[in-house]
Order: sequence, then structure tokens, then C-alpha cells
Amino acid sequence: MTENIYPVELTAPDIEPYRTGNTGVEFVTTFDSGTAGPHVMINAVTHGNEICGAIALDALLKADVRPVQGKLTLGFINHMAFQTFDPQAPDLSRFVDEDFNRVWVEERLDGAEDTVELRRARELRPIFDSVDLLLDIHSMGTNSGALMICNGLEKERTFSRMVNFPAFIMCGSGHVVGKRLIEYTPFNDVNNNKVALLVECGQHWAAATGIAALDTALHFLRAAKTVSPVFIEEHLSDVATNPPAAQMWDVTGGVIAETDDFEFVKPFAGMEIIETAETVIANDGDTPIVTPYDHCLLMMPNHKPGKGMRKLRLCRRVG
Ligand SMILES: [Zn+2]
Repeated sequence: MTENIYPVELTAPDIEPYRTGNTGVEFVTTFDSGTAGPHVMINAVTHGNEICGAIALDALLKADVRPVQGKLTLGFINHMAFQTFDPQAPDLSRFVDEDFNRVWVEERLDGAEDTVELRRARELRPIFDSVDLLLDIHSMGTNSGALMICNGLEKERTFSRMVNFPAFIMCGSGHVVGKRLIEYTPFNDVNNNKVALLVECGQHWAAATGIAALDTALHFLRAAKTVSPVFIEEHLSDVATNPPAAQMWDVTGGVIAETDDFEFVKPFAGMEIIETAETVIANDGDTPIVTPYDHCLLMMPNHKPGKGMRKLRLCRRVG
């Protein structure tokens, strides 16, 4: 376990008041406007150590957010892991048995395997199956700028541009084992209009990350036309009012450590742009890792050691 070098500036909210909810599934609350419109859902704490989403949902619930059309569902997803969050050891509460954001494969959901996260995924699955627009709120291990992630389908690109917050939209996965929630079949399907987006709001415990989580949720609700414009304006932070057009980038690949001896040449935080192709950015044992093209963006570098670990994603600007 690497030592946590980032101060814990955020405070994990008490989510116990939201346990009962009104859906029959713990920590999930749905508000129904009674009129036609999309079913919009915002997820917090898919990873239990990523507390910014819980802060955003707590703020929305305390502000009595209500949909003006369709339905709005707010869910604390891996509440079991989140409730073990300890500011003295903030990395330890990511999950209980396994990564909740890798289990979204039908064979596993339908299978006989039993883990804490699979059990929770099975109880949440009927809710996700009814959702049209999903925002899954996450945060990152480094002080990277915030970014929105989608699979890259045209419907996702269109809706991400409507959300237009945070300032970067990253399309594609760059190799992961298992499936993330945004890759769960009903969302990752060109034959319907459902869209699931994943936002990375900044470093897990930085103060600005909590603000970015709420700002992103509000821009998502604005784009979905779920909540009144007055509510949005009242709750957006100054930095998120009238943001410039977001940049779109394609994730062209991921770098996996082949050895236990993978070292970046600089302490990259993420979102650095390397101007020239063939620039060495890391050494994996004796093998130099180079940028494959000019103007290559380094997304979410992972400084945790270990062979087989995804170290970063490489991205090319769209258009
Ligand atoms: Zn996460």
C-alpha cells in the first residue's frame, strides 16, 4: 500500500438518513414529477473512497431537488464500502470484495458467484435497467483536471456536449478488465437512446473535487431538462457558470505495466499534452514507453506499482 500523500480536505457526509429511501432498495431515492420525461439517475460512491459524489447528492437532497419532468433517482451505490471511509486511511474504502465498476457483465450478474458488490449490483440492476440518462460520479488518485468519460458512441458524444462540463470529454475505455457501469449493455447499445456518463471530478479528497461533483451533477440535470433552470443557477459555483465549450478527445489506447519496475519520467498528474510523437514518458523495466503521435494527452496516470496495472490512457484530440 502506498502512503497517501494527498490531504483529506473533504468530509464524508452522513448518508444514514438516506438508507430507507423510497424504492425498496437501500440508499436509493426516486422523485417522480408525474409528467412524461426521461428517468435520470445520479450515482455516488460507486467507489467507496470517492466521497465527492456523496457530497453532491447530500447537497441536492438537502436542497430538496425535484424533477420538473420525468423521474430523478439519486443513489449511494457502494454504501457498504463508503461507510468504512476513514480519513486516516482514505484509500482503503474503495470496495469490500471487488471493484464495483468491473462487474457489469451479464454472465457474472446472472451467475451464481457471490460477492458483496455482485449482490448490490443485482439489487440495483432493475433500477439501472429503467434509467435513460445516468451520471456516475467518481474521482481520481492524482491532482488531474476533471474530465467526463463515455464509451464514444454518437449518442454519448452528443449528450456529453450538451452537458458541457467539466471542460474535457474523453471517449473510449483504453482496456479494462470486466465492464464498467457505463459499459453495461443497456447503456452501451447503439439501438436505444440511453446514455451513461462517468465523471472524474479531480483528486479524491481535494476541496475543489466536491465542488466539481455538484457542478457536474447540475449541468447534467440542466442538459436532461430534469430540474428547473432557477434551481441550477442557484446552486452552480462561480467557475461552472457559463463554461466554455468542452474539448473532446478519443482514448486511443491504454498502457499496462509489463513489469514491477514501471517508472514515469515525471510525476505526471494527468491531462499533460506531449507535443511530439516518440517522446519517452515512462520506462517499464528496460522498455521505454513513448507517445504514439503528436499532441498526445496523458489521461489518469496511475503511480501505484505493480505488474499488470493500467498505468495511463493515451488520447488524441477530436476535430
Ligand atoms: Zn472511481
